[in-house]
Amino acid sequence: MPTRQIEWNVHTIGQIAVYALLIIPVGFLVYGLARRVRMWRIGQPEDRFNAWGTRLRGAITQSILHGRIVRRRNRYGGLMHLFIFVGFVTLLIGTFIVMVEDDITVPIFHYSFYRGNFYLGYKLAMNLAGILLIAGVLMAFYRRLVVRPKQLQTSADDLVILAFLAVLTVQGYALGALRLGVQHDPWAKWSFVSYALAIPLRGLSDGWLMALHQVNWFSHFLTTFAFLAYFAYSKMIHPFTSLANVFFRRLRPMGELTPIENLEEAESFGIAKLEDFSWAQLMNLDACMHCGRCLEYCPTFNTDKPLRPRDLILEIGGYMADSGGIFSGELGEGENSARFRWGEGPERELIGGVVSTEELWDCTTCGACMEQCPVFIEHVPLIVGMRRNLVLEQSEFPDELTNVFNNLERLSSPYQFPPSQRDAWTKKMAQPVRIMGEAAAAEEEVEVLFFVGCLGSFDSRNQRTTMALARILQAAGINFAILGKEETCTGDPARRIGNEYLAQMMAQQTVETLNQYSFKKIVTACPHCFNAIKNEYPQIGGNYEVVHHSELISQLIAEKRITLDPASDVASGKVTYHDPCYLGRYNKVYDDPRSVVSALPGAELTEMGRNRNHSFCCGGGGGRLFMEETRGSRINQARVTEALETGATTLAASCPFCMTMFEDGINGVGANETLQVRDIAELVAAAMVTATANETETETD
Ligand code: SF4
Ligand code: SF4
Repeated sequence: MPTRQIEWNVHTIGQIAVYALLIIPVGFLVYGLARRVRMWRIGQPEDRFNAWGTRLRGAITQSILHGRIVRRRNRYGGLMHLFIFVGFVTLLIGTFIVMVEDDITVPIFHYSFYRGNFYLGYKLAMNLAGILLIAGVLMAFYRRLVVRPKQLQTSADDLVILAFLAVLTVQGYALGALRLGVQHDPWAKWSFVSYALAIPLRGLSDGWLMALHQVNWFSHFLTTFAFLAYFAYSKMIHPFTSLANVFFRRLRPMGELTPIENLEEAESFGIAKLEDFSWAQLMNLDACMHCGRCLEYCPTFNTDKPLRPRDLILEIGGYMADSGGIFSGELGEGENSARFRWGEGPERELIGGVVSTEELWDCTTCGACMEQCPVFIEHVPLIVGMRRNLVLEQSEFPDELTNVFNNLERLSSPYQFPPSQRDAWTKKMAQPVRIMGEAAAAEEEVEVLFFVGCLGSFDSRNQRTTMALARILQAAGINFAILGKEETCTGDPARRIGNEYLAQMMAQQTVETLNQYSFKKIVTACPHCFNAIKNEYPQIGGNYEVVHHSELISQLIAEKRITLDPASDVASGKVTYHDPCYLGRYNKVYDDPRSVVSALPGAELTEMGRNRNHSFCCGGGGGRLFMEETRGSRINQARVTEALETGATTLAASCPFCMTMFEDGINGVGANETLQVRDIAELVAAAMVTATANETETETD
């Protein structure tokens, strides 16, 4: 019956020695893991011990089955990782199967399962797994040493790990080949790789083959032990840490930032030292596998700014390892390398010493890093946490923000306009727009509350979008009203900038106003207002149905409640649509704005290379709209250039922040004659059959 003698050609003393020695690398492994867990435990409490089923499903589908790792745009890297993972895990399971047969079932139960068809299938599976592993390792070497993509940093650690995997696999095949050279099993072809390798060995005597087998057997175990000892002190720890990280991932909406609880009583604010992170955030730092995917769509990395989300994680992770006395290895050489080196010392300050303030202020909070990260690392909450400390504790922030904070505090908007001017745009409308307070006083019902937002209220360019949306609502016969002078900033920019005090004040004020009135749903043209109302207001008792104007307009067109003039040439030709980060990535609204653009008469929707969840930020989120862009090249110009490359003459926007950034970007690249940026509401309003009747004096501003 097909089988083989386990530990063939190895003396019992050798076998005992190997088992005795095993305690050393296992000790290293356990110690390394324990040190890391100890470091996570210095973090703040955070409840991630819920929804076990969801967590388990995510860990299996996203991590073990590689759901987030093998992606359409990362097929090479994803498959490479999948090959290595499947090969490695299968061989590991194979090793355990042999141990169970040799150490448990045979000696204790006198039962052998390692024979017959099981044995043949096992041999076939192990040989295939080895091929997968070698293929993955060769792909990785090729990518790291030949292709060298910009976002990939290669350190000695990466090469050592790959070398370990390759050597271990070759040693495994060689063991089989040397044994087959002596034993000539009739079923040898099931071990097809070892069988092929045994052919050139046929000239060697059995004595030589057995001697070589013994040398290879011991060196295979020594290599395994060295790898095991190295495991917890290198990137190879990531199978444990990333699986744990995916399991304990944050299950709240991506667009929701956690508030500082009991702000008034808090003694310190935000994150200034390792102990200020939550335990889950500290675990994030150890889960990074250095893949660089977070860099691919990061606007700061792609415009040569100091912030690189991968390096931010590695720098703080290295600092944590240093503080915990864990050797973390160096993180690469050359221009594209993380700046932290082991041994720089744990006594540095986190902000300013490990992470620069420039890195923290450059982030647009676009979420591209988090969306891309295969192991669910959350960069934005870490960055905002450190910004909170800078703003609230150290009063250190870019000068431009002083006015923004003052305006928010005094005027409830980032701009220096009095609240009385919030509804000034309604005076330019052909039909009156109702004010919520007046409608309530007159006991009139209001179905839809149009939340205009600060940019839509005060900024003259964005007022055109506001008026266009109001005209659409009027044309569709929707019973709506605005808050007018009572409207306040939602708190989104303040929260992302790190001024949690102002953010909570604004949010509280807005919720109190909204809760005074009765309406069915809120519509807004601003994805930042949309995200705050939808995802953050439930934290403070504000529970509303809120839709973005792209969703409502798409529905109105589909229901034929508004009609577009087939002769309209408002968007004839190529139109490219830009996904705002807070609408697309954060809230997964991708199709509605596209269906609106596609419905425009004569419009040919053409996509930019980076679109939908791979969209490239306009540069205005995270409070960046109010800050100077002094480092690297300009993000808005990079995106406008990408829009121009499509040959489109219209850049369709659906966010007032994007609108402002793109108007500036088009000017910056001198494309005023070739490209116009217009909100989808403007395009629809201009193409509506009723547009002429509702024309306002500002439409042609
Ligand atoms: S949120 Fe955006 S800008 Fe900030 S680090 Fe991530 S990808 Fe870069
Ligand atoms: S943070 Fe995530 S995406 Fe970025 S390098 Fe680490 S594992 Fe890769």
